[in-house]
Amino acid sequence: MSLSDIKNRIAKAEADAGRAAGSVKLIAVSKVQPDARVRAVLDEGHRIFGENRVQEAAGKWPGFREDFADVELHLIGPLQTNKVRQAMELAEAIHTVDRPKLAKTIARLAQEIGRCPDLFIQVNTGEEDQKAGVMPREADDFIAECRALDLPIKGLMCIPPVDEAPSLHFALLAKIAARNDLNGLSMGMSGDFEQAIALGATHVRVGSAIFGERVSE
Ligand SMILES: *Cc1c(COP(=O)(O)O)cnc(C)c1O
Repeated sequence: MSLSDIKNRIAKAEADAGRAAGSVKLIAVSKVQPDARVRAVLDEGHRIFGENRVQEAAGKWPGFREDFADVELHLIGPLQTNKVRQAMELAEAIHTVDRPKLAKTIARLAQEIGRCPDLFIQVNTGEEDQKAGVMPREADDFIAECRALDLPIKGLMCIPPVDEAPSLHFALLAKIAARNDLNGLSMGMSGDFEQAIALGATHVRVGSAIFGERVSE
């Protein structure tokens, strides 16, 4: 696989779904990848990347930004409250808003810093104990709570359970987004991004299919 293969597959999935060309954003998930691989993808012209950990992103992206000014960084991993400021200073988007305390901290810091990244609310569509995200039945209230805090909520994000058909989860996420008038849908990874696009994904998060298998995590 390579960046251009993935872009071609995204273009085909958009066309198959009757969606406009370019309506899906490809987030290249560079967590744990060697810098040389990340730089190669930057050299190919790609600018939208995703990272899981604030610490790792802070170690890597300020340096890359010196050479590639128009990088757009998306944080897609669980976020601890004590890392929120650093996350907001590093990233153009955060996909994992999942609890009131985190929402309130972001709102307070947005006032202080004078800007706020685009935000996505993570929904635990599979209701898995070990996974982050608000429960589907709590999503409407939490979205309203975030809006009351004036947070720039762009959409919803999910990570389907590994052992279930992802389409059911993508469809559920799309349904919750639609009834809340949210346009953004961050869903789909290396193994299922085409299905996610068929069900309305606006942001797909693709790692190993672009960079190769991660050595460790
Ligand atoms: C690692 C990760 C991805 C990318 O996974 P691949 O299967 O390598 O494409 C996408 N989303 C999240 C939240 C991740 O942690």
